Amino acid sequence: MSVREVENIFVDILDRAKAIDPVNTRKWFDQLNVVHFNGGSLEIGCPDEATAQFLRDNCKSSFTRAAQQITGHLVTIQFNVYTHKGFFKSSKSHVSELKLHPDYTFDNFVVGPSNRLAHASCIAVSQSLGNTYNPLFTYGNSGLGKTHLLHAVCAETRRKSHKAIIQFLSCEDFVNRFIRAIEEGNLAGFQSQFRTVDMLVIDDVQFLREREQSQEEFFHTFNALYNNGKQIILSADCPPTQIPSLEERLISRFNWGLVTRIDPPSHDTRVAIVQKKAHLRGLSISDEIAEYVARKVQANIRELEGALTTIYAVATTTGKEITLELARTALEGQIKAAARHISITDIIEVVTTHFDVRLTDLQSKRRSQGITEPRQICMYLARDLTKHSLEEIGGHLGGRDHTTVMHACSKISKAKKSDPQMNSLLNELTKQVTQMPKA
Ligand code: ADP
Ligand code: MG
Repeated sequence: MSVREVENIFVDILDRAKAIDPVNTRKWFDQLNVVHFNGGSLEIGCPDEATAQFLRDNCKSSFTRAAQQITGHLVTIQFNVYTHKGFFKSSKSHVSELKLHPDYTFDNFVVGPSNRLAHASCIAVSQSLGNTYNPLFTYGNSGLGKTHLLHAVCAETRRKSHKAIIQFLSCEDFVNRFIRAIEEGNLAGFQSQFRTVDMLVIDDVQFLREREQSQEEFFHTFNALYNNGKQIILSADCPPTQIPSLEERLISRFNWGLVTRIDPPSHDTRVAIVQKKAHLRGLSISDEIAEYVARKVQANIRELEGALTTIYAVATTTGKEITLELARTALEGQIKAAARHISITDIIEVVTTHFDVRLTDLQSKRRSQGITEPRQICMYLARDLTKHSLEEIGGHLGGRDHTTVMHACSKISKAKKSDPQMNSLLNELTKQVTQMPKA
């Protein structure tokens, strides 16, 4: 096959993949190229590790299907970083261990009055690690862009200095890795991993509450980094003083640097975000539709993005153009579903009725099979159907800690896979919970 032919086939495959999975289509697909194609396997070159990772995580099956449809036979697909001709960056260097989402950059972040300070401080920090605001603490409700900003700081820092050692993880990961290190008797390894970085970024630190040993460890990590002038960035859903059971000495340290708040976006910012998200997917939508979406979805940007995705998906599956009318029809269903918000109480009601047990039994210390199973099923469904944290779920069920909830979820999820009866029970309960009539 000539280079030209390969390129043509690749263009067809890309178009087909976009049609198969419009939700994960990105404008930068245009920058992908063919590194190697021999009929049976296709190696696709990506501009950087973040895009390669995005494709591996989200697009492998759509690309595989597209390639099969276009070429008429099975093609295995690989996504690798390809910078200059013939030069491959090893995906094993410490540089790539950082998992960043390609969408979450400063370029893709819309700045408005609600997030201006948080955004500016993140930019400042990325320009000079450890020298401006240290620690930088950003808080705000869920879905307002905290994680996006943290990814952007890491990406920008990485772009400026390939050598900077960055650790970026959720607080949940930090705690879990700490617990594992203790179990494996490798605390020293854990400590050297976190105390030798240039920048430590921890998302959702409200999760640090009530776990004294990990707070203690975090405190020492913080001190070690801070005293060496290393950058620390933290996010949470509330200000330091409101994190439940956070030790006084950590609250005071979190306040040493700059604390910024992100508020819900104004109407104009929401319109700009809808347009930005559309642009990112290579879509153009009219101002009228962007205004409509921004009016419909107000509280949470994640839902704003979900609304756009729904519209896009309805347009591609029906083959229709995106009009205001189509946007309206597409969002009707979504808005109704959002109104039917599922709570843990709903789940408990369905489960206790089904098993004929009382809530007080589920909350008690009793460990008989007849009580343990419904309790674990409650935990599993709460994890599956609500956004509550492991701790919140444990709190509803007799103040159990997060490891108990985690254990219950993994046990039920295993049973779901191996036991068809459990599978159909869970499906039935889920159906009942999601179809509960709401006032
Ligand atoms: P949080 O961590 O605060 O819960 P995220 O950072 O996960 O919120 O943001 C949720 C979604 O909203 C992400 O897809 C993110 O890209 C998007 N988003 C939030 N704020 C903005 C913004 N100002 N501009 C563009 N996208 C945004
Ligand atoms: Mg987040």
